[in-house]
Amino acid sequence: MNGVAFFLGVNFVVAVCFSAVFAVVATRSRSRRAALWLAAGFGVASLSAVCELLVAYTATPKIWALGAFATVLSGMMLLRVGIGHLYGRRLDKRIAAFFVTASIILCYVIYDLPRGTPLQAFSYQSPFAVILLDSAFVVLASRGRQTIDRFLGMVLLFTGLHFFAKAGLAVLVGSGSTAKDYIHTNYALISQSATAILVVAVGLTLLAALVLEIMADQRSESEKDTLSALANRRGFDRQVQLLLGEAPNGKHAIIFCDLDHFKRINDTYGHHVGDLVIQGFGQLMNDCAPKRAALGRIGGEEFAIFLPDTEIGAAVLFAQALRGATMALPGLPESLSVTASFGVSPLAMAAGLTEAYRQADLALYIAKNAGRNQVKLADSPHAEAADGYRGETRV
Ligand code: GH3
Ligand code: MG
Ligand code: MG
Repeated sequence: MNGVAFFLGVNFVVAVCFSAVFAVVATRSRSRRAALWLAAGFGVASLSAVCELLVAYTATPKIWALGAFATVLSGMMLLRVGIGHLYGRRLDKRIAAFFVTASIILCYVIYDLPRGTPLQAFSYQSPFAVILLDSAFVVLASRGRQTIDRFLGMVLLFTGLHFFAKAGLAVLVGSGSTAKDYIHTNYALISQSATAILVVAVGLTLLAALVLEIMADQRSESEKDTLSALANRRGFDRQVQLLLGEAPNGKHAIIFCDLDHFKRINDTYGHHVGDLVIQGFGQLMNDCAPKRAALGRIGGEEFAIFLPDTEIGAAVLFAQALRGATMALPGLPESLSVTASFGVSPLAMAAGLTEAYRQADLALYIAKNAGRNQVKLADSPHAEAADGYRGETRV
């Protein structure tokens, strides 16, 4: 079997497989449209291998040569559209259609030029390079890039540049005197094997980017509490660890809060109203808390707030403000007045996070025992700054 025909077969199968995999990924991905464009791109590009074989083994090589060019170029353009969806830089459909049509006309015009001349070789390869380099630019210029995105950008950049190398190689070693000859040249062997490697590299990297996105989404779903729209315990812990990592020696504060007599609310007004209270309290926390704070619903009617780089006095004032606002939660039966109790503790790095949690929990317990609807500050040598704040008592 001809070596080039073998690689054409490989490229066909690989591209079809990627097309199918992206179609499957589209069913799970938030970037569904992007994945479908990528599936379409690999699907259309796979046809170019079939066209190349038809060039060699049928009596109408010109039409199939144009077909090979058109399918691979259109496939790349579809990939560019998908990448544009993924990285937030959409491509104007009219420009895309114009570019593909003009390139196919160019391919038709240069078909009868002597093969392997610089004009013919670079005119043939440049449209591919332009689309790939533009795709690389879209990825590399996007915001919030991660390692996988930088890697994808580099793979696309390299793939784009390799088309110029291919043109140079065609000029140097020749790409067959006619289109029919192409399949029997060493140039074709090198070209098609390079394509096989690059199709796999681009396909796998795009796939990795989409799969990592799905994994990140699933993690964020698993760390969210749907009723309060806050983080759950796991998400809260992870956010706290991230914030501690950013400022390991900073002065932070932790607040635990627990809705008062919540069981009574459920019993009197029904579970549905209890849910509304949790929802409203979560919303209130979100509205009142500083942007960088970590907020979590860590139990049924128990909540936690981590305030990074916050003096303990400011944390107590914040808890007091939240306590006051809780009594005016909107959207509840008029006869229902919700209150909550709060325990506040500074986070002393020497003692650690667990100790701060324990202290905040103890302060909350004492707030409950002292009659509820109040803020208590943990008795800690690190809490001196809070002396004199209204409404709280040292535990
Ligand atoms: P305290 O003031 O001492 O905190 O009393 P409490 O009644 O608030 O505390 P308790 O622990 O006795 O009761 C908490 C109740 O919260 C019991 C449980 O049924 C209710 N609860 C837990 N999760 C949910 C929820 O998601 N929705 C509703 N409606 N109720 C919940
Ligand atoms: Mg309670
Ligand atoms: Mg409780």
